[in-house]
Amino acid sequence: MKRLVLLGGGHAHLFVLEAFAREQPDAMVSLITPDVLTPYSGMMPGVIAGHYDYRQACIDLAPLAAQAGCALRLDSAVSLDAAQRQIRLASGEVIDYDLLSIDTGSTPRIPDLPGADTCGHPVKPIGQLLESWHTARAARSAAVIGAGAAGVEIIMALHHRQPRMRCTLIDRAPSILDGLPAGLQRRAMAELARQQVDVVTDAGVSGLDADTLTLEDGRSLPSQFTVWATGAAPPAWLRGSGLALDERGFIATGPTLQSPSHPEVFAAGDVATMIDSPRPKSGVFAVRAGPPLAANLLRAARGYTLQPWAPQTQALLLLACGRRHAIASRGGWSLQGDWVWRWKDRIDRAFMRRFAL
Ligand SMILES: Cc1cc2nc3c(=O)[nH]c(=O)nc-3n(C[C@H](O)[C@H](O)[C@H](O)COP(=O)(O)OP(=O)(O)OC[C@H]3O[C@@H](n4cnc5c(N)ncnc54)[C@H](O)[C@@H]3O)c2cc1C
Repeated sequence: MKRLVLLGGGHAHLFVLEAFAREQPDAMVSLITPDVLTPYSGMMPGVIAGHYDYRQACIDLAPLAAQAGCALRLDSAVSLDAAQRQIRLASGEVIDYDLLSIDTGSTPRIPDLPGADTCGHPVKPIGQLLESWHTARAARSAAVIGAGAAGVEIIMALHHRQPRMRCTLIDRAPSILDGLPAGLQRRAMAELARQQVDVVTDAGVSGLDADTLTLEDGRSLPSQFTVWATGAAPPAWLRGSGLALDERGFIATGPTLQSPSHPEVFAAGDVATMIDSPRPKSGVFAVRAGPPLAANLLRAARGYTLQPWAPQTQALLLLACGRRHAIASRGGWSLQGDWVWRWKDRIDRAFMRRFAL
């Protein structure tokens, strides 16, 4: 019987486990992931804002794995040898596979600056960020470096939780939410102004300590709780794996979600880039890849022909604004309101219910 290893309990693998519970693959399946609880990122800013508790925003992988007939191993990959079809784990164990599916997400991109790792908190793992925030709740100032969707949501969530805390959002780009629709940028800017969050664009950070951030132009800003939300980087252990990678170091995949260099390896979510149809690193696309990944893993285990898949070009973006208010954007349109937050809340809770056994 083939050994099928699912590496990482990310969003796409939730759908794989769900599919395997309905239809057992002709394989011995195991899931390797460090934590039994996998956080659902869509609700995490809501955890910081105080609308949900952490447990409410996490999916318990144990019952999902059990229902799928899948052995759960709490460990993480530290290296991969694609030629030998072996994964080395943090515990020192080496796992052999015949088929491998990787959904381990990305790692935060943290620049090599004085104080960057000792005084700044990476946005991922989210559980760790929440713990750091818990111990820093008395902070009088906070800053988020990186004004992408996650950075904007986090600074507004921090402000909502501590309205008297001075909050700053910083980005090297000329505008927040760079590359996202203009309507969304405008609405988010207005919301940040309403909340009196300072927005500093066109500015790089050159260093930080426990109380202060220094910018490249010499300015300094107060920040006793600094979050790095500077984008997604590939996990370091992919280097040297022998897998074909894209130019940034993420796993290259084709339309069947297979590696072009090693067809027995599949990948989806932030860790992968579909070479012919690249999409932003976001939970929405990780979720979308889940069902086609599951279907192709079932086919691969049986030796059937795989089916190509192309992700949609546009996705609905729902940006939580700290308070129970959100902005929605898709293509050229955007709108906002308390009702948009309730809509987002319903979507998020339905997602959680789907995987709560
Ligand atoms: C604060 C915040 C808010 C966000 N909000 C949104 C949003 O509203 N909408 C949206 O679309 N996107 C959002 N994102 C982006 C979203 O989090 C990611 O795009 C999404 O989580 C990617 O899913 P994934 O399946 O690739 O991996 P992840 O969800 O990151 O899951 C990876 C899994 O693999 C495990 N793992 C990691 N390393 C290893 C290893 N070496 N070995 C084994 N297992 C490993 C992890 O523990 C985890 O269980 C947000 C991100 C952040 C940080």
